[in-house]
Amino acid sequence: MPKSGIEALEKLREGNRRFVDHVISLEALLSHARRAEHAKAQEPFAVILGCSDSRAPAEFIFDQGLGDLFVIRVAGNIAAPSQIGSVEFAVERFGVRLVVVLGHSNCGAVQATLDAIDCPGDVSPALHAIVDRIMPSLTDTPLLEKGDCPERTQYAVRANVRHTMQRLIQDSDFINRMRKEKGLLIVGADYSLDTGEVDFFETPPAQ
Ligand SMILES: [Zn+2]
Repeated sequence: MPKSGIEALEKLREGNRRFVDHVISLEALLSHARRAEHAKAQEPFAVILGCSDSRAPAEFIFDQGLGDLFVIRVAGNIAAPSQIGSVEFAVERFGVRLVVVLGHSNCGAVQATLDAIDCPGDVSPALHAIVDRIMPSLTDTPLLEKGDCPERTQYAVRANVRHTMQRLIQDSDFINRMRKEKGLLIVGADYSLDTGEVDFFETPPAQ
C-alpha cells in the first residue's frame, strides 16, 4: 500500500495505463474474492473526487479493486460542504495522502453551466445548487463568449477542476493543515472519454 501521496499517484498512473491498454490487473480481480476481509476494515490509498458521469467510474479508469479508492462522486465534481467533509473524513480516518479532483471531457454539468451563462434563468433550483458552484470558475475565462465548441467546454472542465481544488484548500482548515504538515497531495486531473487517458495536469504551486 502506498505510504506517500507521490507513491499513491504513481499507482494511479500505472492503473490508468493498464485501463488504456485494456488490461485488468489480477490484484483488482482478486480483491473481489477478499470481500469478507474488506468488510472488517478499509485502507484506501487515494481519495477521488470525481463526476457522477456513468462513463467515468474511478475504480475502472484507474484499474483498482475493492477497498482501494475512497470515491466521492457528484455531478461536476464540485466541492460543496458534504464533499469537503467526505475528503476530511477519509484523510483523517484512513490516513490517505492523495486527493485527486477528477474532471472529464464533455462533462454535462460543466456544459449545463455554460448553457446557464448563455441563457440565464433556464435552470431548475436543484440544478442551481451544482451550477452555482461551477459558475465562479468560469468567470474571467477567455472562452466565455457564447457558442458551443469543444475547446470552450474543455477549457471550462479544467477551470472547474482547479476551482474545486481551491475550495478544498481554502474552505477546510483541516485539509490545508494536512497539506502543510503531513504532505497531503491534492492533484487536478482530466479524464478523456475518447482515449481513456487521465492527464494529471495540476498540482498546487506550493507542492
Ligand atoms: Zn461530468
